[in-house]
Amino acid sequence: MQFNELGLAEPIMKALASKNYVVPTPIQQKAIPVLLEGRDLCGIAQTGTGKTAAFALPSLDYFARNPKVTPIKGCRMLVLAPTRELAAQIAQSFRDYGRFLKLSVETVFGGVPINKQIRALSQGVDIVVATPGRLLDLIDQRALTISHTEIFVLDEADQMMDMGFIHPLKRVAKMLPQGRQNLFFSATMPKEIEALAAQFLNDPVKVSV
Ligand code: AMP
Repeated sequence: MQFNELGLAEPIMKALASKNYVVPTPIQQKAIPVLLEGRDLCGIAQTGTGKTAAFALPSLDYFARNPKVTPIKGCRMLVLAPTRELAAQIAQSFRDYGRFLKLSVETVFGGVPINKQIRALSQGVDIVVATPGRLLDLIDQRALTISHTEIFVLDEADQMMDMGFIHPLKRVAKMLPQGRQNLFFSATMPKEIEALAAQFLNDPVKVSV
């Protein structure tokens, strides 16, 4: 199977061509059709399997087909990652794959001054990639609202749990709106991760690679 069989919008196909990506990886082959249908997804996949593109490409396809003005201080998509390095990498992937779309992408993580992030979010940002602690700081300071989020991604859930992010994640879950699409990724799926997944997901399709 090749990317051109998946029905992705033209600007995304152009970005893939410029990266010389022709064949989707197994997680991409399984996840992209499910996500294009708007279903929730629970994916068991490690880093290096191509899972970033597996969630970035169908999300960008949705934005290409459903243009809308992002609300002031709001976002249309929220991606949570456990570390700033991973958050920065994910944001770069969105910029790469979305280079022919007019979308704003902002990374939000701790350990750097918050003021620049507050300014960057003030007019609204289409895609926010965040670590949980700084995300909640910004929400508490009323610099960001996630109540308009249309697509929510929780990446590397097992690492999130290991790093003690369970309470921040539960707070985030309560603030997200109904009717959104949810994507949940973890390298492993022990009982406590499954319980966390259940807090976010609505009748998910499960894929594993
Ligand atoms: P990830 O698992 O998302 O960290 O991706 C692992 C690496 O594979 C990244 O460097 C991607 O740019 C690359 N990659 C993802 N999908 C494909 C693909 N379909 N063909 C070739 N390389 C890919």
